[in-house]
Amino acid sequence: MRDSNFLKENNAKHMWHPMAHPADMRSNPPKMITGASGVEITDIDGHTTLDAVGGLWNANLGYSVDSIKHAMTEQLMELPYYSAFRGTSNDKAVELSYELMEWFKPEKLVRAFFTSGGSDSVETCLRLARQYHKVRGEGERTKFISLKKGYHGTHFGGASVNGNANFRRNYEPLLPGCFQLPAPWTYRNPFGTDDAQEIANRIIALMEEEIAFQGADTIAAMIMEPVLGAGGVIVPHETFMPMVRDVCDKHGILLIADEVITAFGRTGDVHGSRLWGVAPDMMCTAKAVTNSYFPFGAAMIGEKVAEAFESNKDATGSIGHGYTYSAHPVGCAAALATLAETKKARVWENAKDRGIELQAGLAQLKDKHQIVGDTRGIGLMAAVELVADRDTKAPASKAAVGAAFDGAYEAGVTIRVSGNNIILSPPLVITATDVSRIVDAIDKGLSAAANA
Ligand code: PMP
Repeated sequence: MRDSNFLKENNAKHMWHPMAHPADMRSNPPKMITGASGVEITDIDGHTTLDAVGGLWNANLGYSVDSIKHAMTEQLMELPYYSAFRGTSNDKAVELSYELMEWFKPEKLVRAFFTSGGSDSVETCLRLARQYHKVRGEGERTKFISLKKGYHGTHFGGASVNGNANFRRNYEPLLPGCFQLPAPWTYRNPFGTDDAQEIANRIIALMEEEIAFQGADTIAAMIMEPVLGAGGVIVPHETFMPMVRDVCDKHGILLIADEVITAFGRTGDVHGSRLWGVAPDMMCTAKAVTNSYFPFGAAMIGEKVAEAFESNKDATGSIGHGYTYSAHPVGCAAALATLAETKKARVWENAKDRGIELQAGLAQLKDKHQIVGDTRGIGLMAAVELVADRDTKAPASKAAVGAAFDGAYEAGVTIRVSGNNIILSPPLVITATDVSRIVDAIDKGLSAAANA
């Protein structure tokens, strides 16, 4: 490996990073990660930290799962690639679609369309939603509804339904016909209440109003995350998603669950729709489907949508959409091994138990540190929102948030900071001791933030 100085210098010189300003690379260089083991990562300077980010919400089982690594290597030796465009398929892809049917059986998600990641899965669901209505002779249904603070990836479709201004403004104009409802967020909302049920009811009323205003017969789908992740880990009231389901049914609107983060145990239940007892019409998955070891995803298709396409006899039902790496055999092999490990260890149960401990630890940090405005989360997805003033809820400064990251890193834990939030999404296999390590390191980070 090249030395540390060479890598840092050339990183700034030659590489642009996602979600980062290229001009920041010298003043605030990224940590150069060179190794990972268990739930820890090591940087080029030899500093090892517990990875409380879990890669990027996706290394659910940690970095040392040999069965996944072996399955991938064996697949590389056997069949490193072949396309799944019409005319060819591969055995691992068929096996994986069978296993995914089992995973999503109660929700009757009966077909898998494989992709190369989360944004691709979102794009697939949005496009197939429009096509579903065309197939059924309702081609005017083209619009989409979503939630403010929702994150749906970076393709133009996903960015158009995105609910975070910072991912939109520089790329406008986006897709026409996309409308965002307020987020079901107790800490900040336009309703002047922190009552989660009341907030849910108010958003549903707005949803009905927007549908009446647009015309139900112009709307293709509602897309939402069961728990909003990148927008700041916003956990809606348990009645919210079921009420969204009912409104969609009433108006012939498809419900797309974006479970790129939540599909494989992160919320403390098997997946996010199961957590709320909802069967979506389609579901976007990616990330932890391969435990992060291969860029891969699956758009899951519900019974109703599958039937409409499969009973169609003309060209309208033909899928004019797909990726070179759809059903990549190495990705499929990785996903098969990941699913097997996920089920064997029932990691969602550990996520639930450790999540309760994590929330309790974070609540104590709120009692201790004035800079903490709010802590929230479910399972092993959590946020600590930093504020300059608890009364006005003015966001904490960039310097304070940066100091929190540095303080935690020095104390042996990598956290993620996004805006004025600390976002936590550790591997689902962490222990109670790991939870304490995370809370203690954030405690130190918050002390540093208060003095920044
Ligand atoms: N949807 C959600 C809910 C996500 O969290 C993400 C990624 N964080 C995406 C879509 C996009 O996934 P990817 O980055 O793999 O394209």
